[in-house]
Amino acid sequence: MPTDLLRQVWGFDGFRPGQREIVDAVADGRDVLAIMPTGGGKSLCFQLPALMREGVTVVISPLIALMRDQVRALREAGVAAGALTSGNTQDETDAVFQALSQRELKMLYMAPERLAGGGTINLLRRAGVTAIAVDEAHCVSQWGHDFRPDYLRIGELKRALNVPLAAFTATADAETRAEIVTRLFDGAEPVTFLRGFDRPNIRLAFQPKDSPRKQLLTFSAARRGQSGIVYCASRARTETLADALNAEGHSAVAYHGGMEADLRRQVEARFQREDGLIVVATIAFGMGIDKPDIRWVLHADLPKSIEAYYQEIGRAGRDGDPAETLTLYGPDDIRLRRTQIDEGLAEGTRKSADHARLNALLGLAEATGCRRKRLLAYFGDELADDCGNCDICLHPPKLFDGTQAVRKALSAMLRTGEWFGAGHLIDILTGTTTEKVRERGHDHLPTFGVGRDFSKGQWQAVFRQMMGLDLCRPDPDRHGALHLTDAAHPILRGEIEVTLRHDTTLRAKGANVVRT
Ligand code: ADP
Ligand code: ZN
Repeated sequence: MPTDLLRQVWGFDGFRPGQREIVDAVADGRDVLAIMPTGGGKSLCFQLPALMREGVTVVISPLIALMRDQVRALREAGVAAGALTSGNTQDETDAVFQALSQRELKMLYMAPERLAGGGTINLLRRAGVTAIAVDEAHCVSQWGHDFRPDYLRIGELKRALNVPLAAFTATADAETRAEIVTRLFDGAEPVTFLRGFDRPNIRLAFQPKDSPRKQLLTFSAARRGQSGIVYCASRARTETLADALNAEGHSAVAYHGGMEADLRRQVEARFQREDGLIVVATIAFGMGIDKPDIRWVLHADLPKSIEAYYQEIGRAGRDGDPAETLTLYGPDDIRLRRTQIDEGLAEGTRKSADHARLNALLGLAEATGCRRKRLLAYFGDELADDCGNCDICLHPPKLFDGTQAVRKALSAMLRTGEWFGAGHLIDILTGTTTEKVRERGHDHLPTFGVGRDFSKGQWQAVFRQMMGLDLCRPDPDRHGALHLTDAAHPILRGEIEVTLRHDTTLRAKGANVVRT
């Protein structure tokens, strides 16, 4: 029985949230797609069923080090597991082949590159493979950050072996999910689980960036002696903010990708060991960190996407005790993130997807209702009631009736054929005669100048919130031109009203916040 095995092989007392249902479905031989956050305990969900079933389960994973770790741990627990990766010695590989041909293996870990060789599929067929598990299944997505071309061969493997497949990932956005279904399951819907994304002990909060140094010091002063992480967008900033914290009597240290590997490891070890250390880091920090009692995470700069945000705040409060987060956002770092995407090496469609992920984060920053509901909704996880543990639930913001402003913006969008980004639309609304406005004759539109009562910065805040409310979306195929969603039409027809945030709209300053 699963729970007996759980105790005997892993020494665990029970399942984590979501694990049991996934284990049951995989053990039943269903096709399964399971989406669980990092650290949620995915590996157990394919390892345990593998022990319950006859024959070999093939596990495909892109991470050689991780495969080796898992194989070692399984062997120590007495499970016949082996790996075929480029990291093997010839002896290791021979031993695996030997064990396979004698049908002695329960689990075979394999790098996707192995599938490229024509012989592998035949070999697996002869070896009595009865199930396939795919770790990091999002690597099959050409939209994602970790695309691995050899993952595209997994569908073929499944067809050839005609066995059930269970795919696992922590990436939950709808496009990636759809792509996994198409490419790994030939489009036949697997049983899908999306669990464990809610981390109710983590408090969520956002603030417009005013003076990040001061905001950080105020925040940390109230949390003296607690372990925390400050995330910054640049290396230089990690040093400045670490100095500022030390000057206030905190114990803080900088960490970034430009530091020597030795020094980085020292910082990691110190953080793991010491109480109350603050690490001021670029995103390079945290991957391998498994410290349960990180009490807070502060983003001194806006993360690059809603996924990155979720991952980074998720490092706090692993022990389940209350943990706090604060994310600062301002026009400058929004612009920085846009530029990083635009100047990156990714191809056009990927860039648009990245802009959309950033937009989702901006929507969360500008939310007028419970942030956790919104965050979980993005991942497809549901929360029935407001959480009571985000800044909005705790201190509901002042709102104002933004219906008129939103209608003006939407009609500017419609009258220009939904062909333009926010920057140009704001020029039209504020009656700014740029060359582009004149060339297109947009200074003759009835909407030209109807929004002079707002500054450009205020309009940008309106557009951010409109995107956040999903009234309009940037079109990937039209360089981010905004188009109306179905939700916008009742507003244009005057059937429903829109509330916007007073604090972030009417006090907004700055320019070019929204992608044009
Ligand atoms: P993921 O692959 O989802 O990031 P892992 O499978 O590596 O996560 O599991 C994360 C950690 O949780 C591991 O240290 C694992 O041993 C532990 N873990 C998993 N399931 C359980 C459980 N049911 N009870 C206790 N610990 C668990
Ligand atoms: Zn809330």
